Amino acid sequence: MATKTLKGQIGVTTENIFPVIKQFLYSDHEIFLRELVANAVDASQKLKALASSGEFKGELGDLKVQIKLDEGKKTLKIIDNGIGMTEEEVDKYINQIAFSSAGEFLEKYKDQMSSIIGHFGLGFYSAFMVADKVTIETLSWKEGAKAVKWSCDGSPEYSMGEGKKEDRGTTITLHLDDESAKEFGNKGRIEQLLNKYCKFMPVPVTFGKKTEWKDGKSVETDEDNVINSIDPVWTRTPSELKDEDYLNFYKALYPMEEDPMFWIHLNVDYPFNLTGVLYFPKIKERMSIDKNKIQLFCNQMFVTDHVDNIVPDFLTLLHGVIDSPDIPLNVSRSYLQSDANVKKISTYITKKVADRLEDIFKEQRSQFEQKWDNIKLFIEYGMLSDEKFAGRGLGFALLKNTEGKYFSLEDYRKGIEGAQTDKDKKVVYLYATDVDAQYSFIEAAKNKGYDVLLMDCELDSHFVNLLEQKIKDCRFARVDSDTVDNLIPTQDKVKPELSEDDKKALDSLFKSALPEGNEYQIEAENLGETAAPVLITQNEFMRRWREMSAMGGGMNFYGEMPQSYNVKVNMENPLVAKIWADRENTEELLHQVIDLALLSNGMLKGKALSEFIARSQSLLSCSNPEKQPRP
Ligand code: ADP
Repeated sequence: MATKTLKGQIGVTTENIFPVIKQFLYSDHEIFLRELVANAVDASQKLKALASSGEFKGELGDLKVQIKLDEGKKTLKIIDNGIGMTEEEVDKYINQIAFSSAGEFLEKYKDQMSSIIGHFGLGFYSAFMVADKVTIETLSWKEGAKAVKWSCDGSPEYSMGEGKKEDRGTTITLHLDDESAKEFGNKGRIEQLLNKYCKFMPVPVTFGKKTEWKDGKSVETDEDNVINSIDPVWTRTPSELKDEDYLNFYKALYPMEEDPMFWIHLNVDYPFNLTGVLYFPKIKERMSIDKNKIQLFCNQMFVTDHVDNIVPDFLTLLHGVIDSPDIPLNVSRSYLQSDANVKKISTYITKKVADRLEDIFKEQRSQFEQKWDNIKLFIEYGMLSDEKFAGRGLGFALLKNTEGKYFSLEDYRKGIEGAQTDKDKKVVYLYATDVDAQYSFIEAAKNKGYDVLLMDCELDSHFVNLLEQKIKDCRFARVDSDTVDNLIPTQDKVKPELSEDDKKALDSLFKSALPEGNEYQIEAENLGETAAPVLITQNEFMRRWREMSAMGGGMNFYGEMPQSYNVKVNMENPLVAKIWADRENTEELLHQVIDLALLSNGMLKGKALSEFIARSQSLLSCSNPEKQPRP
């Protein structure tokens, strides 16, 4: 057939496909290089497969893909020594574009053109996004095959004839158009693209020669500048890999990051194909966690770093690589979420992550505890946002107490059940959010034989709610939400008997000495002679609502309400008895006991604090006559 040069029309029914391609892919022009390199890699892989099946008996040679840029001539060549094409094949694969109504099709899917391109036999034609002329010179591996030269200047007309190529493989030459030459006729830009899209392709891809510094300037060496690594860790067998391999790969992906906490090697081939390595990054600042650090590949070809529709939201906090030819790339984002394969993949990844965490929990408990503070945010986020993961997380989530000890949920419950079950048979989990601010309450609880958890993470107020739902017969109470005797009531308390008038009097007496701007519920209590005279606490549920609305839970009503406190007046305390018996003459003492209560809550500040100090000094000097200033 290839005796004389043929002219023909490219077999698409649309008038002219190229303007369409150029127009729709305007923003994504750069993918042409990925498409062409991917074809060249495919051609090399196919030859390898033919060799191993015995069909190809010749020399494989050094299979590689070379990229050559001639900045002067504005040409870019993609050269492979793969299977090549016969004239029939060029005709079939290049001239007859794989579908009949290309124009209609392109119109319908214009938004997703870039991903469609590789998947519908348009890959090669993406060359016309940047070139006004493209030539193919190719020689097939087949015995007796003749070289073919094909060329097309961007109209639907092509010419095809016998070529001069002597060695097996294909050379694609792009004559960059003026506009594109400005961008892609530049060595740095090509290098950047190769690094982005081809860094892990399975056949060596070279771009020029390596350079070295000699006599103060950079000179080319004889060595090919290979830009990719052909067997990245995710393609290898986990049992052959050492920690170092995973860490080095992480460094290659994220040169600026600290070493990760641990990783998960994904490897499944049924019912879908997926490999990858996911890393738990070391979180430096909790609030600035990078999402979208997972890169999606398709057979080692980079596709995107937006995997938010493929993995569940909480997993986008992880870093690493996912490689799957089974993720449909040619569809819209909303379709992607409802795609059955994608759902399976997302469920699989969630399960694998949970399996891995459970393994570490079981087998490397001390490591897990050491890393807990760092991965806690991730696990809590996962448990709050994913029902299945929540179920699994109950098995390996840890609780940390104010002494820095870690417990599994099960062990913790066993540990506190005895001392911390209330009269309604609920186990009460006490927690603090700030060990310094809640110090006196923590100490009081500990003295009573209780344990106090530390819940100081951003998500903890939500997490506490979740645990209350998931753990049978339990209740969480912040350690300062009530007096220590009332935190875990074992029987109904006998309240002091006060008449209605007395109650009103007590109410206005104590309110008169409390700072303005908040709401107070004054309650008379019998807490024992030695207990503090006054205790200020904040209702557990009101406080949680406020915290959650502050985090943007949409419950602003609570966020805007004044702070509300319970003020417990211990009628059995001798100082209170004195104040109550002699209201007119004990104003200073009243202020003093209230300020002490405010102080232990960290609520005494500014002017009130300095008044308190002055008053304390004067009270002290009154009680120590020797130190009284001389008149
Ligand atoms: P796709 O690669 O998605 O099938 P392309 O338009 O990129 O679509 O290529 C069409 C076909 O042309 C390929 O399937 C392959 O058979 C052939 N082809 C393209 N480039 C090469 C090459 N460098 N070597 C051998 N065959 C090639």
